[in-house]
Formats: sequence, structure tokens, C-alpha cells
Amino acid sequence: MADRAGPPVTGATRVAAVIGSPVRHSLSPVLLNAAFQAAHLDWVFAAFEVPEGAGGAAVAAMRTLGLGGLSVTMPHKAAAYEAVDERTPVADDLGAVNCVFHRDGRLVGDSTDGPGFVDALTIDEGIELDGRRCVLVGAGGAGRAVARALGAAGAAEVVVVNRSPGPAQRAAEMAGAVGRVGDHSDVTRAELIVNATSVGMAGSPAEGALPVHADLLHAGQVVVDLIYHPVETPLLAAARARGAVAVNGVGMLVHQAAHAFVRWTGEAPPLREMATAIRHELGRRAPSDGSSSHG
Ligand code: NAP
Repeated sequence: MADRAGPPVTGATRVAAVIGSPVRHSLSPVLLNAAFQAAHLDWVFAAFEVPEGAGGAAVAAMRTLGLGGLSVTMPHKAAAYEAVDERTPVADDLGAVNCVFHRDGRLVGDSTDGPGFVDALTIDEGIELDGRRCVLVGAGGAGRAVARALGAAGAAEVVVVNRSPGPAQRAAEMAGAVGRVGDHSDVTRAELIVNATSVGMAGSPAEGALPVHADLLHAGQVVVDLIYHPVETPLLAAARARGAVAVNGVGMLVHQAAHAFVRWTGEAPPLREMATAIRHELGRRAPSDGSSSHG
């Protein structure tokens, strides 16, 4: 069990939580409790295992129980979208909610993956997205959020490459006029390549595999893997070996939680302490301990 170095939990302590199933290996409690402690806030963050079908009731319970904030992970993102009183434009476009906060007595649903992705690249890595030719491999929930974020950030093109054509088309549409469906031949001329598949993720059927052929990568490219477990995926190792800049998913994980922290508390997020906490936790967990891939 992790040490709890913060103030004692009292009747005045505010509670925030993540709902999901499975949720026991969620990294959100590590991130958010580190954030609350570093910001000297009398808040605590818990994880609630909520069975499929009960996501809407769990969101409603946020009001009943007076929870200060709610993170939502698989399989409840669509149910949370339906259960909130209103949604941000991002959540509306994606049809999914991963963060619920209070505003003027109403529950607002948001999606922080896209802003977290953009902040990880622009703030942590100093990489500008405006005018970039991008290839996005993968078109699930995270892929759609990234496609939308890249389009909104001014990318010159967002080419979506995915195993299944239907989701690829929907993700490309998220990027607006600069989005289109492509194939692996688009990777060579891309400046920014983002892996939003689970290929290479520890514990997945495709653990150890590459989502694109290594020979398509070269110096001058930025290669981002949304996966953070392991922190160095086969894709990132291949990118580095060919002289490309390699960025793992830890920064996005930190920044999407930081966006939730801001919405709940109104305070500036203690990014450095959050990053330190998550790196420590990821280092502690063995690569194949079955940890959840979701925040
Ligand atoms: P998801 O909705 O289940 O989507 C999975 C995607 O991976 C789909 O595009 C799927 O293609 C593709 N895929 C799965 N297995 C494949 C295979 N063997 N070959 C080719 N494509 C395959 O998952 P998600 O929520 O979008 O998450 C995707 C990844 O992003 C995960 O690794 C997750 O850990 C990571 N992620 C990271 C963060 C972060 O903060 N760093 C946040 C969210 C997600 P089909 O459409 O053909 O099925």
C-alpha cells in the first residue's frame, strides 16, 4: 500500500474519484493524490469499481455524495456523456466524457485527452503542431480525441491509418478539413506520427509489436506513442534508432489529469510533482503486471 503523506482525512475532506471496470490498477489515484498533496488541498482521490451499465447512476451519485470531481474510464465514457447536465464542445464532438465537474449547480462532462495530448507536446517537448503534416495510427477513443486536437491545433494534415476503415473515417472527420484516411505509405512523408493503437502495449495481444514498419521512420520526424506501459515501446525504440524524436505517453497521462485537476479545484496543477509521482509508480510496476492501460 502506498504511503499517504498528506493531511488526515476528516469530515471536511473533499473526495474526487475515478469510475471504471476494471479500475483497481488505475494510475489516476497516484496522479491526483500527488497533485492534491503538492497543492496543499484537503482533497483525496479514490477509485470506484463500477460495473458496466451502472455508469449513469455513478455520475448521478456524484451529486448525491457531493463528490468534488469525477474521472471516467472504460466502459463508462458514453454513459457519462448521457448522464451529465451539459457537455463541453470537445465532449460533444467525441460523444464521450472522461471528466465531470460542477458548474453553477450543474454537472458538466468534458474530455481531457485531446488537451492533454497537445500540452504534452507543446509544453513538455516544445513541439509546435501548427502546420505539421501528421499521421495518426489508430482510431479508437484516444485516436478520435487526438485527431480532433490536431485539427484544432492547426495541423496541415491529419492522415488516419487504422486496421478497420469505419473508425478511421470517423476519426479523420474529427480533424475537420485537414483530416483524411490514408495508409502506411503516408508515414514516410509525415513530420509527426502518433500511435493511438494498443499495439506494443504491455499485456496486450500485440505486446512487443510495431504499429508501423520501422523502415518508414527517419530523422526529422517526431514519433509519439500514447502508450506509457511500457514507457519505451518497440515503436519508440525503432524511432530513436533511426534518428527520430521519440515521445512516450506519460506526458499526455499527466496533462489530461492536470486538466481535470484545474476543472475541479480551480487551482494551477502541480505538474512537476504529478510527473514525478507517475514516473515513480510506473517504475515500481513491472512491465507485465496486468496494469490497466487507461488513466
Ligand atoms: P480503443 O478505443 O480500444 O482503440 C484501440 C485502437 O487500436 C483501434 O484503432 C484499433 O483498431 C487498434 N488496434 C488494436 N489492436 C490492434 C492490432 N493488433 N493491430 C492494429 N490495430 C489495432 O483504445 P483507446 O482508448 O483509443 O487507447 C488506445 C491506446 O492509447 C492504448 O494503448 C491506451 O493505453 C493509449 N492511451 C493513452 C493515454 C495517455 O494518457 N497516454 C490516454 C488514452 C489512451 P480497430 O479500429 O481496427 O479495432
